This record gives sequence, C-alpha cells and structure tokens, in this order.
Amino acid sequence: MTDQQRWDLAVEAAGSVYEHLAPETGAQLDTLIGQIMRLKEELVERALAAGSASICRTCAGRCCRNGKYHVSVLDLLAYRSSKTEPVVPEFSPGPACPYSGASGCRMPPRFRPMTCVVFNCELVEGPMEPDECTALYEKEKLLRDAIARANSLTGRRLDRALLLSCDT
Ligand code: SF4
Ligand code: SF4
Repeated sequence: MTDQQRWDLAVEAAGSVYEHLAPETGAQLDTLIGQIMRLKEELVERALAAGSASICRTCAGRCCRNGKYHVSVLDLLAYRSSKTEPVVPEFSPGPACPYSGASGCRMPPRFRPMTCVVFNCELVEGPMEPDECTALYEKEKLLRDAIARANSLTGRRLDRALLLSCDT
C-alpha cells in the first residue's frame, strides 16, 4: 500500500470514528480538542518568542525530516472538530515532511502534531531563561494530559500515527 492510499484510508476511518461517537462523548472530545489546539498555539508562540523562526530557518528544519508519521488520528480529528479541511500531505521519496513547503510547515500551529510543537532543540531552548523553560514544560505536560484524556474518553489510541492507524 502506498502512503497516499494509507492516508486516504486513514482519513475515511478517522472521520467514521468521529461521526459515530455518542453525542455527549463527541461534545467532550470537541472541548478537549479545543484545549489541545490552544496549548499547541501557546507552545509555538513561546518558541517563536525565543527566536525559533530565524533559528529554524537557518537550520532548514532539520528536525522536520521524516515527519510523515508525526500526524496522529487526533490531529486529523482536530480538523473535523473545527470544520476545516486538513492540510493534505504531498508524499515524495526522501526525508522532506509531506506537510512542509518552501516556507516551512504548512499547518497552522494549532493543527501541528504534538511531537512537532513540544520539540525544541538546544539551539532554541538553550538561550531560554530557566523560568521560560519551566513554563514550556508545564504547557507540554498539560498538552500530554489532554491527549491522554482524549484517549481515555474514546477508549482509543487517538495519539497513534495516522498513517499506521489502518495497519493491523
Ligand atoms: S528545532 Fe532545532 S533542529 Fe528543529 S528546525 Fe529548529 S533549529 Fe532545526
Ligand atoms: S508536520 Fe510540520 S512541524 Fe511537523 S515535521 Fe512536518 S513540517 Fe515539521
């Protein structure tokens, strides 16, 4: 199966899961997804405040290589919950992330995978003041907790890699 076929299948399966949630569960999941999206934005804002835009541009996005498995089922459900069309991957041979473009990640920060918004290498994190690092780690913990609650609420591993979610 090609990556494109996996993506198509996974999008269909994730959509079906979302549509078949009990109304109360769906409403609770939407609330959690809203919290998750806000936390992702806050994490990216903190990295940007530390200069990540220019640092990561100079590095040419080294940590984004091989990023195609970072997107989870839950990340896709965030688009459903927001009634927004997902950023469509462009699969090609090589290490470039299929969600990246000439100017970096094509996803708005609130839709980026957890792995992408919590990782900051030493170049970004090193110059941060200790209290900035502490605030960053606290946000990361809140994000991980909210994702765990989404798993528990639905009884599914929604944080599983989307492209692997249709494999048995
Ligand atoms: S976080 Fe570090 S490795 Fe990743 S793109 Fe930025 S500078 Fe490069
Ligand atoms: S999804 Fe965006 S941030 Fe994550 S690896 Fe791909 S290009 Fe980088």
